[in-house]
Amino acid sequence: PRELLFYCRAGFERDLSAELQDKAAALGWAGYPVAEAGDAHVRFVMLDEQPANALHRQLPLEALVFARQSLVALPVLEALSREDRLTPIIEQVMASGWSFESLWQETPDSNEAKALAALTKALQRPLEGALRKRGALRRKAQGRRLHLFWSAGDRVQLAMSFPGNRSEQPGGIRRLRFPREAPSRSTLKLEEAWHVFVPRDEWPARLHEGMQAADLGAAPGGWTYQLVRRGMHTYAIDNGPMDRDLMATGLVEHLREDGFTWEPPYRLDWLVCDIVDKPMRVIDMVERWLIRRWCHEAVFNLKLPMKQRWAEVKRCLSRLAASLERAGVRAEIACKQLYHDREEVTVHVRLD
Ligand code: SAM
Repeated sequence: PRELLFYCRAGFERDLSAELQDKAAALGWAGYPVAEAGDAHVRFVMLDEQPANALHRQLPLEALVFARQSLVALPVLEALSREDRLTPIIEQVMASGWSFESLWQETPDSNEAKALAALTKALQRPLEGALRKRGALRRKAQGRRLHLFWSAGDRVQLAMSFPGNRSEQPGGIRRLRFPREAPSRSTLKLEEAWHVFVPRDEWPARLHEGMQAADLGAAPGGWTYQLVRRGMHTYAIDNGPMDRDLMATGLVEHLREDGFTWEPPYRLDWLVCDIVDKPMRVIDMVERWLIRRWCHEAVFNLKLPMKQRWAEVKRCLSRLAASLERAGVRAEIACKQLYHDREEVTVHVRLD
């Protein structure tokens, strides 16, 4: 294969393209992104006779900010006949020489693509049956998954994913149930951040009762709700009002102060921040917290109303990494545009 296929939030194709081009070039690969605004995916086409698998391994999905899913792809199949969509698909799978353990059909995360649900549903069993019969779908195939990415009723791109470098969620989308008692929809951003940045088996050790947290820009309390749900004592910093039920838990101390200048009375476990402000201003503040070790882990959002979002994210992350290094503070930094993020990305930092 000579192509990679990435899914992203609709409207962020340019940002993902810029990120891919930047990172591929830094690794010494020649290739170019192909994307249409609003299509919620980007193809990255390799130049020359280079195998895409090697680049795929060197660009782990967890290190990509704007990608939700990362696949090694075959050439797009276009103008499929209504009478027989199956044959060209099966032929392409057989010609690839690969076999798979599972078959997922997916569509772009855009409104137009919703109309394709009936089609993919109808094709699932016939496709599985045909591929199983020819040995391309079988029980042991090293966890490889075949993805059929439908961008129109007559247009599909076949692609594959490998365990350890992919999202295990269909469409790369982590759907979470909105907790009825939560004071705002934003609550899902922090919950998703934990799913993405903290391995599930480490939750008991890293997100537990009795921990101390600060939530900057907390009102009305969607993020505080998540901290409290884990039994953490939380300083909620905001001029705005906090949800009454949340305050009634007795776990929240609401301070009407400026989140950019407030200092915690002692070291905390978690800092979270959802203040809408200039990304670099947020970085400055978080940097101070980390260098003084006022918290051990942090989750914060960078709001991106500007045009060149990848350039801005890169600038912020480089600055943060450089400042921590200069201060001799060792930390892991990760950044992702989550499914519940809109014009923003979420950063996670954990001190060593
Ligand atoms: N995370 C919250 C939730 O889940 O309910 C929503 C936060 S909302 C996007 C941003 C909040 O930041 C607003 O309530 C606003 O009052 C607050 N804010 C803005 N500037 C602030 C500052 N300098 N210090 C503290 N809070 C600030």
